[in-house]
Amino acid sequence: MLQPLSPESRALVDTGRQFFIPNYKPRDMILDRGQGARLWDLDGNEYLDLGGGIAVNCLGHQDPALLAALEAQAKKLWHTSNVYFTEPAIRLAAELVTASGFASRVFFCNSGAEANEAAIKLARRYATQHLAPSQRRILTFHGSFHGRTLATVTATAQPKYQEGFEPLPGGFVYGPFNDVTGATQLIDAHTCAVLVEPVQGEGGVLPAAPGFLAALRAACDKVGALLIFDEVQCGIGRTGKLFGHEWDGVRPDALTLAKALGGGMPIGALLAAPKVEEVLGFGTHGSTFGGNPLACAVARAVLARVSDAGFLAGVQRQAERLRAGLHELGMRHDLFREIRGRGLMIGAVLNSRWQGKATDITEFAREDGVLILQAGPDVLRFVPPLTLTDEELDSALARLSTTFARLPAPAQS
Ligand SMILES: *Cc1c(COP(=O)(O)O)cnc(C)c1O
Repeated sequence: MLQPLSPESRALVDTGRQFFIPNYKPRDMILDRGQGARLWDLDGNEYLDLGGGIAVNCLGHQDPALLAALEAQAKKLWHTSNVYFTEPAIRLAAELVTASGFASRVFFCNSGAEANEAAIKLARRYATQHLAPSQRRILTFHGSFHGRTLATVTATAQPKYQEGFEPLPGGFVYGPFNDVTGATQLIDAHTCAVLVEPVQGEGGVLPAAPGFLAALRAACDKVGALLIFDEVQCGIGRTGKLFGHEWDGVRPDALTLAKALGGGMPIGALLAAPKVEEVLGFGTHGSTFGGNPLACAVARAVLARVSDAGFLAGVQRQAERLRAGLHELGMRHDLFREIRGRGLMIGAVLNSRWQGKATDITEFAREDGVLILQAGPDVLRFVPPLTLTDEELDSALARLSTTFARLPAPAQS
């Protein structure tokens, strides 16, 4: 169990509660430093980090190569804007193009929402240039998550993220995820693009069913619509392949990245296939911080490590171990209906006894020194550093065993 908050930490927490706009609800702790998959708070408590800053810290905390890349760049140049070239951004763009196997050009920005915003603008601009005036709708999927800007929250087909922000931008249509017939019948002469996560993240850690992305690809090709993959969460090695869609063997026309791309530095990217590489022409779009040399220098080090076949094999190996461990704990404590996901993007779906209890369970786990996330009220989400060691994994499972054993029995319904 944790040391209680010291008076100093309590005061700092209270100050945070006072001065932040209350859109978040951070727990009663102040994280202070990290190493590998471990974090420590100001009161000296140690946590195993199975949330990875929401699938961001792909190489854990204080990775020596990332630190060296950041330090070296910090001593040279921090920011120039896109009025000028810098070497880290140029090299990262070329390396992403090569690694992608489908893209020919890249646009850099600072977040997932911003990358998806760029993808949405690219789709509309493509429609303006190449499609009929009536062909402007973008299909997205129930349970998706694409960000919090007005356009991306509209693309996010979940009412809880949209309510109260009307009027929302028009031209979005929502379809059923993993339902080939239901989805493809919505791809018609009005559709300019389909935006989809190869593995839905926030919506419950749900991979695309076999054949679903291929069916979307075929339906898009039939009407000339673009297929855009949101790999903000499932990209950059998370699933055990560099890109989540590699499991399905389906190529997109554009793809968005963010979260793990910078290993903790804020960076997003839109990758464009040759067919759409010229769509966002001079002056059509931009971002002051996009392609920031600090973020790009670190992202290059991330990409170099994560694209290695041996590294990706390690992700798959740890994913199997974590899944097996969770399965065993779930059986012992009658917790989970299903364990799903791909690679180190794992969702443990609570069974009916524990329905709606994900928030409570993550807090109990924190008290035992394990940070886990949820994806909705019924799914525990595990997106740890991809570098998770055997020792870190075993310690985390041992602590979770304690947590699951002491959960108060849910009220019988
Ligand atoms: C997190 C996420 C986003 C939004 O990214 P931000 O950096 O928070 O704007 C978009 N799409 C997916 C799939 C995500 O998981």
